[in-house]
Amino acid sequence: MMVGKNKEITIDPWGKELIQDYSRLIKEFGMQEFDNNIFPEPNLQMRRGINFGGQDLEAIAKCIKDNKPFYVLSGIMPSSEKIHLGTETVIQNIRYFQDHGAKTFVLIADVESQATRGVSLEEGKRRAMEFHIPAYIALGLDIEKTTFYLQSENKEVSNLAAICSQKITENEFRAIYGSVHPAKVVSAFTQMGDILFPQLKERMPGIIPVGIDQAPHIRMVRDVARRLKQEYGFFLPSAIYNKYTSALDGSFKMSKSAEAIGKIEIPEKDLNLLEKKINKALTGGRPTREEQREKGGEINKCTVYEYAKNHFIKDDQILNKMFEECVSGKNLCGECKAKYGVPYAKKFFENFNKNFEEAKKSVGKIKILK
Ligand code: SF4
Repeated sequence: MMVGKNKEITIDPWGKELIQDYSRLIKEFGMQEFDNNIFPEPNLQMRRGINFGGQDLEAIAKCIKDNKPFYVLSGIMPSSEKIHLGTETVIQNIRYFQDHGAKTFVLIADVESQATRGVSLEEGKRRAMEFHIPAYIALGLDIEKTTFYLQSENKEVSNLAAICSQKITENEFRAIYGSVHPAKVVSAFTQMGDILFPQLKERMPGIIPVGIDQAPHIRMVRDVARRLKQEYGFFLPSAIYNKYTSALDGSFKMSKSAEAIGKIEIPEKDLNLLEKKINKALTGGRPTREEQREKGGEINKCTVYEYAKNHFIKDDQILNKMFEECVSGKNLCGECKAKYGVPYAKKFFENFNKNFEEAKKSVGKIKILK
């Protein structure tokens, strides 16, 4: 649990808080504001402000510009056989850096899943191979350019975790995570080992695309890398943060452990249920038809628009039309959901379901480090 400078905002990687004021977050936690011009050919997530902040982004921009080695790393948490819709943003960012020259590492966090959720290592591996990895491929990960590993099979990660554990005091750990619960300790140090692991072979900058709830891990690994710098010469890992996608009632981030109701997760196999969820979602509709025709919808409060922008409508022109027709009062919410909300969500999942079946056939070709 990271507490901001004036102690009004906290970020907890295991919590469910909704953080709406991202500019305050940037100030309070000393993050870097994301500048759309920093990377060449920004992707949709960068262009649409879904990525809002980061750490040391220039180091990565320089590697891209000068064609120097760098890495991108992300983890699969096999604690269930569904993934958070926000993971799509992370995968698109991995893909972006992968396409811009990053050596790509995707780890299966089976040790962490066992420590924090009680999922056995065998079960974690099974879920990763049968669901998570094909889902990542279906969402755009290029397996030809990706190295996978299991935390439980990577001794170098365990060794690094032990080295990192020497560099943090109990009080510092408590200040960042709120407690020294044994599962949190195992999980946090294993993640540090993961984040630094690609630098064992070759010291180079690396970028970690994460949801903002994971910022405490980034802060701690950067502190540790700084303390290990003299001895090991690690680069401080960079990060790119994405915003939460709120729950369909607009209340809090869609956490995996939250109630299934009001959530859209990957996969959504029942498209009729998906339609019902979108039809019940919180919108920025005005109290009366007349008022909405006159003033337009309050689009910044609308989860249907948020989902369309963050995930379902990839074409900027179509998204602009949805926006225009909302704020001008041309569409009422029912019309808008029928024209944009439901069809594009269904299309997203139809594509996903089709690609997932194809992707299952390529799992045998992935490179897993032993
Ligand atoms: Fe949301 Fe569409 Fe209603 Fe606008 S018209 S508030 S975008 S559902």
